[in-house]
Amino acid sequence: MSTNSKPNLAGLSLAKLRDLFVGMGEKPFRAEQVMKWIHQRGVLELDAMTDISKPLRERLQQTTCIELPRLVEEFASEDGSRKWIVQVASGSSVEMVFIPEADRGTLCVSSQAGCTLDCSFCATGKQGFNSNLSVAEIIGQLWWANHHLGGFKGPLERPVSNVVMMGMGEPLLNFESVMDAVNIMMEDVAYGLSKRKVTISTSGVVPAIDRLKDFTDASLAISLHAPNDILRSQIMPINRKYPIKELLRSVKGYMDSLSDNRVPVIEYTLIAGINDHRQLARDLAVLLKDFACKINLIPFNPFALSDYRRPSNSSISNFRQILQEAGFIVTVRTTRADDIGAACGQLVGIVADQTQRNSRHIERKLRAETGAKEFDSADNLAIAADSV
Ligand code: SAH
Ligand code: SF4
Repeated sequence: MSTNSKPNLAGLSLAKLRDLFVGMGEKPFRAEQVMKWIHQRGVLELDAMTDISKPLRERLQQTTCIELPRLVEEFASEDGSRKWIVQVASGSSVEMVFIPEADRGTLCVSSQAGCTLDCSFCATGKQGFNSNLSVAEIIGQLWWANHHLGGFKGPLERPVSNVVMMGMGEPLLNFESVMDAVNIMMEDVAYGLSKRKVTISTSGVVPAIDRLKDFTDASLAISLHAPNDILRSQIMPINRKYPIKELLRSVKGYMDSLSDNRVPVIEYTLIAGINDHRQLARDLAVLLKDFACKINLIPFNPFALSDYRRPSNSSISNFRQILQEAGFIVTVRTTRADDIGAACGQLVGIVADQTQRNSRHIERKLRAETGAKEFDSADNLAIAADSV
């Protein structure tokens, strides 16, 4: 968390670190040195950076800072997953989750405290919105995970092999900071993650997807969740502004700009009785007929403020089968870490909400439970769509 206005060395991309050193009359390679200390070796004290001369360290001491978000709590799941909560400068807390699997370790990173978009199935959306995270607050989550998992011990220790920007918030509504943070993740002299293993998940902020290719070549996941605009606009207000056709056009543009033949992941959260009907699977297959992609089905994860339910296992496998028979590669995300409230869409942190959406959702839920008239959420949807 940055408490002063000095540049924070932990939150500068390699290009910005170079500019800083050149601006100080120093050689640009100092940037690589500092980046290695902070992001490869996990060192935050300038005095320990022994390949930098003492006078330069003293100048840096006076003119810069090295600050990360404060780690406030840690949870361990029975399945080996871990969740950490960090406090950010705005006073809110955000969550990140580490999911170990046989062949990889995935860190799910947050980009905002809350989210402005209010998708009807998402706990983060119900929290309202407080702030965008800074670069240091985003990359700091990877730093802390490495710190706790032994990732700074040497080049062979790589507990976090994959990062997904699927924690709290909409990454493409915090564009500049997310771009710098993912580029630090992929930087050889920092975490050195492959572009195939850093994934930005978006609900579909089309103008930002259109700009993406000028800033990064990270992988992309799209939260689609419905095969037609009527249903998608009901559960994802952002669709009213950027409908499906525009979204797919924009995603194709980004994929075409990449130098390899990667395809995007289409995420589809299956909610009982809302978007899990077999006909919708058939419609999805038609919609994506000429669109190269993989499909990831996510069984809905319940949370307190939602009345939605997870479909039965047989509905999930029917939905999957229809898509597979149409020729798609389909995976079903296994639910991990829900004993510590860390499954997809359950991340909430503590958000000092600025939108009052959270209190309205709580009131609506209370009214529904006491049999009073259901709250009309149209005004919420309008607010969310306007804030894009
Ligand atoms: N804002 C971005 C990234 C964060 S959400 C986005 O929307 O893509 C990460 C993924 O979790 C998205 O695909 C989202 O739709 C899904 N998700 C949200 N709430 C969920 C829930 N309750 N159960 C299952 N998946 C959920
Ligand atoms: Fe925001 Fe993503 Fe949740 Fe929608 S699913 S409210 S975009 S975090």
